[in-house]
Amino acid sequence: MRRMTARPANAHQERVLKLLRDEGPRSRAELSGLIDLSRSKVAVEVDRLMSAGLLVVDGLAASRGGRRSHRIRLSPELRFLGVDIGATSVDVAVTNAELEVLGHLNEPIDVREGPVAVFEQVVVMAGKLKAAGLAESFDGAGVGIPGPVRFAEGVPVAPPIMPGWDGFPVRKALSQVLGCPVMVDNDVNLMALGERHAGVAKRVDDFLCVKIGTGIGCGIVVNGQVHRGASGSAGDIGHIQVDPDGHPCACGNRGCLEAHFSGAALARDALAAVESGHSTGALADRLAASGTLTAADVGAAANVGDAVALDLIRAGGDHVGHVIAGLVSFFNPSLVVLGGRVTGLGHGLLAAIRTQVYRRSLPLATGNLPIVLGDLGPVAGAIGAARLITDHLFSPA
Ligand SMILES: [Zn+2]
Repeated sequence: MRRMTARPANAHQERVLKLLRDEGPRSRAELSGLIDLSRSKVAVEVDRLMSAGLLVVDGLAASRGGRRSHRIRLSPELRFLGVDIGATSVDVAVTNAELEVLGHLNEPIDVREGPVAVFEQVVVMAGKLKAAGLAESFDGAGVGIPGPVRFAEGVPVAPPIMPGWDGFPVRKALSQVLGCPVMVDNDVNLMALGERHAGVAKRVDDFLCVKIGTGIGCGIVVNGQVHRGASGSAGDIGHIQVDPDGHPCACGNRGCLEAHFSGAALARDALAAVESGHSTGALADRLAASGTLTAADVGAAANVGDAVALDLIRAGGDHVGHVIAGLVSFFNPSLVVLGGRVTGLGHGLLAAIRTQVYRRSLPLATGNLPIVLGDLGPVAGAIGAARLITDHLFSPA
């Protein structure tokens, strides 16, 4: 299997590669129309990209009366690794150059064990996917981590839930162990990229993607591009204050959104409710059975009608909806996508978020604003990670 050794030499080649990645095989004539370049120039650039091993001939395009033309596609031998590191689990996926997932693994981790332990596990998982025959090697890898990233260097900066990661050279270290180029971003930005590439936000240029898991973050897509802000911390909405006298947060402040609603906050509040005798139903039964409560227990209790569980989810949805309403007024997105493990807690959460946003934002902003769950589930971040590294490798060096 040949490795991707070449990068595009100019902006025309970049557009050809990205178009074939996003839209699939096309004839030279179709490429010429889509990237607005003469057929002869397209033919020259396609030939060069073929010589470099990045493109191959795929078969005949549909005849339109004239001579049938060959379709061009990205080399089917290209392989990318998408790695989505969460606080409690990691997703690793192998994709082809069109970013179709060829294989995917999810395993539990504890991100607090630090980068060395987590990367050892990622490398083992990548090895399992190779052993399954999905790749001989990787042409590039994208990596998402659940904290702020200084994007240019691929380095986490003071991530509140990731002790031991501050300043760790993730991009450099993983590039060495995986033996391929690596790009690193915040996990929420990658979820947004994934949903835009293959999910519910396909072809949507201005949207917000809110991830609710162990923490809460927001991917901001403006004109089709992720907006990372001046230093890479745009969208860190988990630390917007929702209650000045509220719970202490891992960041050192008080009353942050994610201190009031996140996987960890939900587990804490459920435990407090049971211990103070407020829940005598399904939550109490679950605590008695396992000795602990998680966000998933709250979801399961809500599904069987436990009043305390339903109240906790509704109150959490109110907090998130309150913050999203502010974002909608500020940003005027055409779509809000919700993802992350906690969004699996049932319809009550989505209903509470929608109610708050529609009630608090102005009609002009919400008149045609879908608020929906993501399409891609647990692989959204990994697909976004593959998208990130191909955005990099399909650009001129
Ligand atoms: Zn905080």
